[in-house]
Amino acid sequence: MINLDKLVRKNILTLTPYSSARDEFKGEAEVYLDANENPYNDPYNRYPDPLQIKLKEKISALKNIPVENIFLGNGSDEPIDLVIRIFCDPGIDNIVAIDPTYGMYKVAAQINNVEYKSVALSEDFELEPDRLLNACNAFTKLIFLCSPNNPTANYLDETAIRHIIENFQGIVVLDEAYIDFSAHRGFLPELHSYPNLIILQTFSKAWGLAGVRLGMAFAHSSIIELMNKVKYPYNVNILTQQKVMEAIENLAQKEAWVKIILQNRQWLTEQLTTIEGVEKIYPSDANFILVKIQQANQVYQYLVDQRIIVRNRSNVRLCNNCLRITVGTAEENMQLITALKKLKTPVKAAI
Ligand SMILES: *Cc1c(COP(=O)(O)O)cnc(C)c1O
Repeated sequence: MINLDKLVRKNILTLTPYSSARDEFKGEAEVYLDANENPYNDPYNRYPDPLQIKLKEKISALKNIPVENIFLGNGSDEPIDLVIRIFCDPGIDNIVAIDPTYGMYKVAAQINNVEYKSVALSEDFELEPDRLLNACNAFTKLIFLCSPNNPTANYLDETAIRHIIENFQGIVVLDEAYIDFSAHRGFLPELHSYPNLIILQTFSKAWGLAGVRLGMAFAHSSIIELMNKVKYPYNVNILTQQKVMEAIENLAQKEAWVKIILQNRQWLTEQLTTIEGVEKIYPSDANFILVKIQQANQVYQYLVDQRIIVRNRSNVRLCNNCLRITVGTAEENMQLITALKKLKTPVKAAI
């Protein structure tokens, strides 16, 4: 069992959170004259539910996780920033994370003036749990893991993840933004066994709602309470809450998208093997493919000139000459492959 009081910053432990009008009266009434809202322009004149209970009930049923274990934020960015602010004293505490991984963890740490220590994955992008644990010291409050990992696309070994959760004296943040594209279930079914685990998921990828901004964090209720205490009172607006509830009603649409994206991923993988200069296609549990290709910088620029944008990851540790390609529609993938096929050796010599 972890001792949260020891991990949480003192100022957060003792914080009395802002109490909004909607916090102080939560029932149903006829006349609302308590929040200085405009009485016209229904329903947008009203502040949203600060705890998004209706939406959380839907997410609870969807994920089979109790409402008290769910936090919702403005994308995953919000819970990432919040956990750093809750647990890490600036200039004192530190964070350990895998490398390469999603760039936002490091940026959020730097904004908060919290030291960020990265530990390389193995050459084939496997998690090496003891190397991560050895990088921790008495001031390490958080470990960030991402599985399936961005940009490497692989699902990290579950035994290695469990080893870290069970042996680290702080909080493990496991980002599962791409879990819907994986054949694995991820760690939500085990959440109740690990009071020091925070799982992040998002509506930005499989659900096709990146523009709507809704991120989820799942954790022990005492961690969720801390996050609720520190967040902006009305952090998820009415439009987002409504749009995501509609999307959940239409779960079949998301499942159909995932199915076709996985078929497209398979097609794209097969096609990429035929492209000259491709040295390695890394196995993917996500909606993107990491490809090692000769002269990746030049290939990247060539594709830009063809008005096709992929992500150049060449400068990322262990990803020399790697491009990260998001799986698109069948037509978009075809355009990419057609462009790459034109890039024969003589063309390559010319660029
Ligand atoms: C895309 C992505 C997210 C999603 O972030 P949002 O703020 O929810 O859009 C989270 N984590 C990783 C690793 C990602 O690649």
